[in-house]
Amino acid sequence: MNHESTQTALAQRTNLYGLDREGLASRLARYNVPDFHAGQVYRWLYQRDAWSPDQWTDLPQSLRARLLAETRTDPGKLGMRTGAADETVKYRTELADGGTVETVFMRQSGRVTLCLSSQVGCALDCDFCLTGKMGFKRHLSAGEIVGQVALIRSDQALTGSFNIVFMGMGEPLHNYDATIAAVRLLCDPEGFGFSRRRITVSTVGLAPAIEKLAEEPVRPRLAVSLNATTDEVRARIMPITKKHGIERLLAACTRFQERTGEAFTLEYVLLEGVNDTDDDARRLREIGLRMRAKINLIPFNPVPGWLAYRPPSRRRIEAIRNRLLDAGVRVSIRWSRGTQARAACGQLALLPDTPDAAQTGNPG
Ligand code: SAH
Repeated sequence: MNHESTQTALAQRTNLYGLDREGLASRLARYNVPDFHAGQVYRWLYQRDAWSPDQWTDLPQSLRARLLAETRTDPGKLGMRTGAADETVKYRTELADGGTVETVFMRQSGRVTLCLSSQVGCALDCDFCLTGKMGFKRHLSAGEIVGQVALIRSDQALTGSFNIVFMGMGEPLHNYDATIAAVRLLCDPEGFGFSRRRITVSTVGLAPAIEKLAEEPVRPRLAVSLNATTDEVRARIMPITKKHGIERLLAACTRFQERTGEAFTLEYVLLEGVNDTDDDARRLREIGLRMRAKINLIPFNPVPGWLAYRPPSRRRIEAIRNRLLDAGVRVSIRWSRGTQARAACGQLALLPDTPDAAQTGNPG
């Protein structure tokens, strides 16, 4: 027996992709090689996007052969892609350990932003978000999170830095450790080499995790999905509100600001007739002023058949923006990108076109 005894089955092998320097050093220790080889492997994986030991020319041949036979070194692979007319591309990323997520590439006036997924599905069940309709499948590992960056920057031949937002599938702070490990790989000058200021983690608002994030030595920027101005409405559209109400969430945000001295963003998905009244606009203005936060208004992106909401009219959206502006709140409107490709905020999910198709097993 042959092949199988020397070549450990692929699925059982440790995947080096996603390990940090210490992780690589401890994995390489079994080969009795000098420690600096861990640093070399680290740079090949994250700085140079060279994912096969074949390419690691500054390592001894014998070590490369063993790594090739006994480990995995892959960041996953790109599957189907869907383009929209506005230069937005939605990629399916096939994960190294099985499963698929979606990752969105956006280019707007020369500025590139990648929108990463942190979980397959999501456990938070926000009623206006398609990912929630999938339910929670599993967390992504750090390697699977940064793998999305590596695969797409190779595919798009991107050089240098760009913006990274954790606003795809999943709740990044529910997958806290892998999210932080990914941020560290992304920000390490010998890793991906991004400035931490170009990385934003968006959260449904897990208050204790926001407070923990404030203490991280390598910390991304923070965006919090507020989405309502009363606990009653928020609980209806975001069940997490029953666990921590808006005041508890805002207290965590204040702590974050005090500890880090850094501003954060409040995101507000506008749902017609749900959270867009004059009273909402007034309360939102008060929260914006009190928190000294920037407010990002996101007109709801519909997914007919799945999500029972509508965005307010353009006039209404602009009126709300103007009320905030007039009060001196920093505010922007995130007009959606990629709606055609079902690539916009809240439209990412591995689901058929309509729930009926899900029941009959007919993909549409
Ligand atoms: N779980 C994280 C990140 C994923 S959602 C979070 O909740 O922040 C990223 C942003 O898209 C959030 O602000 C969310 O409220 C918003 N969003 C979700 N569904 C949407 C939809 N259908 N239309 C517009 N924005 C949506």
